[in-house]
Amino acid sequence: MSDDIPFDKTFDLPPGKVEEVAPGIRRLLCNNPGPFTFKGTVSYIVGRGRVAIIDPGPLDEPHIAALLDAVQGETVTHIFVTHTHRDHSPAAARIKAATGAPTLGEGPHRAARPLNVGGDVRPLDSSGDMDFRPDRALADGDVVDGDGWSLEAIATPGHCANHMAYALKGTDILFAGDHVMAWSTPVVAPPDGAMSDYMASLDKLARRAETTYYPGHGGAVRDAPRYVQHFIRHRRAREAAILECLTAGESDIPSLVHDIYVGLDPRLTRAAGLSVLAHLEDLVARGRVKTEGAPAANGRYRLAVG
Ligand SMILES: [Zn+2]
Repeated sequence: MSDDIPFDKTFDLPPGKVEEVAPGIRRLLCNNPGPFTFKGTVSYIVGRGRVAIIDPGPLDEPHIAALLDAVQGETVTHIFVTHTHRDHSPAAARIKAATGAPTLGEGPHRAARPLNVGGDVRPLDSSGDMDFRPDRALADGDVVDGDGWSLEAIATPGHCANHMAYALKGTDILFAGDHVMAWSTPVVAPPDGAMSDYMASLDKLARRAETTYYPGHGGAVRDAPRYVQHFIRHRRAREAAILECLTAGESDIPSLVHDIYVGLDPRLTRAAGLSVLAHLEDLVARGRVKTEGAPAANGRYRLAVG
């Protein structure tokens, strides 16, 4: 299903090693590999001397120590967070305590929609960091000026309701968080995620000029606007596959996952089910699919015909 996206899974950075990927941009990998995190979370340091950190990462002591070591002799002036998942934001409090720098992000963790709608959806284990509260809440289009750098906040909900990407003004570089990555599509799963938001956020990035994305996991995305088009086509193809399955008759989410995700890593079955639910929520909202009550993980779905 995902062979249509030209993924790039090369990423050789060892955990703890600081690497300069572009003038004034350093990255550091946390040793938290997994099916959702690839080799681990990538933290970025922007600037020289007076710097910003983007996504301090999870509460991982060696990573926090490596990050503080990387900026030794420098001043951290800002701590940005792309979204409040536990592999991105929890170390912000520790970096703040060590440096005095304020934290910035869209806001505290929240679901994409009220939790009581759509039945009892249990979030994925790797999800919400309920403790993060940014010192400065950012809105779409806000520009934060540092010493020799400016970052523009770009609201990109879909993977997480409070997801922000950050464009480095005056360059072709954008920090994409988990919204667009080179190695995989992100999980778009209720309750944190919403498919309609995700598609709108992809359209938004596809219209922007930045060509190089540095994501929260894995290596850089090149030729980014074209790459984003692949993501858009991929989701449309998955939606078409769901509708195609439903033409054969009423179905439920486990059957749809079984029919659509051929050769799926068993560790990702639950995520795939939530992704199908995200598509179904969107299709029900658009009047293409029907279900009893609100779209639920254990619901039955049929095409809305006539
Ligand atoms: Zn992540």
